[in-house]
Amino acid sequence: MKPRILVVEDNPDNMTLVQWALDDAGYTCVQASSAETAFRMLEFESVDLILMDISLPGIDGKEATRRLRTDPRYASIPIIAVTAHAISEEERAIRDCGVNDVITKPIDWDRFQEVLQTYLCAGASHGTNPRR
Ligand code: MN
Repeated sequence: MKPRILVVEDNPDNMTLVQWALDDAGYTCVQASSAETAFRMLEFESVDLILMDISLPGIDGKEATRRLRTDPRYASIPIIAVTAHAISEEERAIRDCGVNDVITKPIDWDRFQEVLQTYLCAGASHGTNPRR
């Protein structure tokens, strides 16, 4: 079965780009335009990895990650932050919220595919997602 990636992204243009990249790599893209929507979707959608935009209206990506990490159902799903904030100070703050890795915008697509492969393989070998 194709890995399912939940993309939390409020910018439609960015969402389209990420959708193309995921389609191209043979992944299924599940879309949420806000953290609130993502939380609702996770109630019934099983996903293998989450791509989390940090700058979101309402609950931002950092707070969303903190909440997911405290919920045993989602604590082990790899979360990759996607952010335009390239400042190292900010990257540390993002990592402290519990994301596995950080991808900066504009996205380097080779690194994007590498990071996805790394965390999808790690998840598959441990089989830690109880919802799979
Ligand atoms: Mn955004």
